[in-house]
Amino acid sequence: MAYDESHVTRTYSPFSIVKRFIGIPPAFLLDDHTPRYQLLSSVEASKKRSLAYAHLRECNLCPRKCGVNRYETTGMCLIGASTAKVNVIAPHRGEEPCIQGFHGSGSVFFSGCNLRCVFCQNHDIAHQRNGMDLTPEELAEWYLKLQTVGNVHNINLVTPEHVVPQVVLSILAARDMGLRVPIIYNTSAFDSLDSLKLLDGLVDIYLPDFKVWRDSTSKRLLKADNYTATAMESIQEMHRQVGDLSFTSDGIAKQGVLLRHLVMPGKEDEGREIMRWLADNVSKDLFVHIMEQYHPDAHVGKKKRPSRKGSVGLTGAGETEGSEQGEQVRYAEINRAVRDEEVTSVRDAAVQAGLWRFCEVHEQNSAFHL
Ligand code: SF4
Repeated sequence: MAYDESHVTRTYSPFSIVKRFIGIPPAFLLDDHTPRYQLLSSVEASKKRSLAYAHLRECNLCPRKCGVNRYETTGMCLIGASTAKVNVIAPHRGEEPCIQGFHGSGSVFFSGCNLRCVFCQNHDIAHQRNGMDLTPEELAEWYLKLQTVGNVHNINLVTPEHVVPQVVLSILAARDMGLRVPIIYNTSAFDSLDSLKLLDGLVDIYLPDFKVWRDSTSKRLLKADNYTATAMESIQEMHRQVGDLSFTSDGIAKQGVLLRHLVMPGKEDEGREIMRWLADNVSKDLFVHIMEQYHPDAHVGKKKRPSRKGSVGLTGAGETEGSEQGEQVRYAEINRAVRDEEVTSVRDAAVQAGLWRFCEVHEQNSAFHL
């Protein structure tokens, strides 16, 4: 299916406000939308509550499969059972136009993560356990504040993979308090089928990243052995639950999958493989955001640590030698911005594979783009 944009018009006011006519393909236009959590029966809701508590007592909820009782100790994510650690809660205008809309997306940034991406663009939040400890009921109260005071279009749960039970309990509490905006699960796709099953019926929009293709890359850069196979399985399950991204006539996304891929320097071949796989194995109508804003961050480009013998360059496992201006740095092969031609090659491969619904980055600050 091809989408003709020729009817899109722009008019410019004296104050340079851009107005646009928004055309939504009829197959993805909703008359109205009721959040899925509002449709759950009370029996289904209590089953989910019990399952959430059971998972906390023996946590195998993410692919790390620690098997710990989180009431007594913590697993690799370092987060216990009774609370989730939250770094920032605020209306956010840095998301895709159809997610942030006019008033912003009600974002809840969870601290901690079950991945250890060496280039993490949010490492101050994801790699450090800073923030407030909130119970599910306190989280629910924040969702209500975002809805009533912030007038946000949705609740956007960012990096929630390691606190799924707390998130489930919070959504169920918020529905009883009067929440009525869609829930977004904003994930690295390093989720298990068990946790996605727990979320089924509670999440309206899945916002997964598909980060890398090769196992050697995920091992080196994400510190995870089985990322790609896990992401494939997870994204197929997310799409099974909510389908392709759909909008109400105001241009705001209400249900479906919005897939992100951050193009990495020198790894555009992996991006191309990901696009082909998505088109052939998820949906050619998948809404895809090919992102070009990669910049070296976290551990990338930092000076190599001295070895025990005091020489630079004999570093920890998984790092290779590299240099920048004569100085050896960590992860030198991704210590640069991504090039235009790398982004273009991923985009071209996506189009050739049959994908056609893209979020255009250059539209980010103007208005909606469907
Ligand atoms: S959520 Fe945390 S404790 Fe549970 S399996 Fe994953 S890393 Fe381990």
